[in-house]
Amino acid sequence: MKNTILNALKKWIAIISIISIGLCGIYFFTKVTTTDEEKENKEVVDLNEKRTDKSSNKDKEAGTKIKTKDEEKSSISDKIICIDPGHQLKGNLEKEAVAPNSKIVKFKCSSGTVGVSTKIREEKLNLEVGLLLKQKLINEGAKVVMTRETSKVDISNVERAEISNKANSDVFIRIHTDGSENHNVAGISVLVPNDKYIKDKKMLQRSYDIGSCVLKSVVEHTKAKNKGIIKRGDISGFNWSKKPVILIEMGFMTNPDEDKKLNAKQYQNKIVEGIIDGLKRYFDQDNKNSR
Ligand SMILES: [Zn+2]
Repeated sequence: MKNTILNALKKWIAIISIISIGLCGIYFFTKVTTTDEEKENKEVVDLNEKRTDKSSNKDKEAGTKIKTKDEEKSSISDKIICIDPGHQLKGNLEKEAVAPNSKIVKFKCSSGTVGVSTKIREEKLNLEVGLLLKQKLINEGAKVVMTRETSKVDISNVERAEISNKANSDVFIRIHTDGSENHNVAGISVLVPNDKYIKDKKMLQRSYDIGSCVLKSVVEHTKAKNKGIIKRGDISGFNWSKKPVILIEMGFMTNPDEDKKLNAKQYQNKIVEGIIDGLKRYFDQDNKNSR
C-alpha cells in the first residue's frame, strides 16, 4: 500500500518536473527572443531619438539661419525700382503732351547738357551712374527695370514713365545732371512732382518723402552743396507716372570742378551709395508703418 502511494507520488513529481522544465524552456526561449527584439526595437528608438535630436538641431540651425538672413535682408530687397538714365545719344524734338489730357506739348527727349571740363555728354554720364546704381541695387536684392541700357535708343519721356508704370515699380528714379549759364553754380537737387496734373495724393507724398530721404543721404555721402527738393508740374516723365517718382540732378556739368568730380568713378560710387542709403531709410520706415 505504502509502495503504491510512493510510486504514485514519484510519478506525479516526475510529471510536474517535466511540465516545469517544459514551461521553463518555453519561458526561457520566449524571453531570449523578446529581449533580442526589444533590444533591436530599443536601438531603433534610440536611433530615431538621435535622428530627432539631430533634425531638431538642424531645424534650429536652419531657423537661426533664416532669421539671420531675414535680419540681414535690407528694406529694399524685393522692391521694384525703375531707373531712367536721362536723355539719349540723339535728342528727339518731336512733341508729346506734358500730361494726360493736356494740350501743352514738350519735346519727346531733349539732348541734355555737356561737361565744360570733360566734354562728356550728360546722357553718357547719366547712363554710367544708372548702370552702377542698377548693379548695386541688384546686390541688395532689389528688382531693377531700366528704361535704357545703351545710348542709341529713342525713348520719349512719356514712354519712360510708361515703362515704370508697366513694371509696377515701387519707385521710378530718374538720373540727370544739371547745367547753368553761370559756371559757378554747383550742387545737388531732387525734383518731385507737384499736384498740377497729378491728383493721387499718396503718390505725391511718397515721391516727396523718397526724394527727401535720397537728397539728404546723397548730400551726406558726397558733401556736395544741397540745392534742395523742388516740386515741379511741367515734367512729362512725372505727369505720366502712376508710381512715386523722383529726379535727381547729381550736380552741374557746367561747373568745371563738379563736372570732373561727376565723371570720376569714386564720386559716382558715393552718389549711388547715397541713393541706396536714402531708399533704405525711406523703405525701412515705410515697411514699419505698413506692418
Ligand atoms: Zn537732364
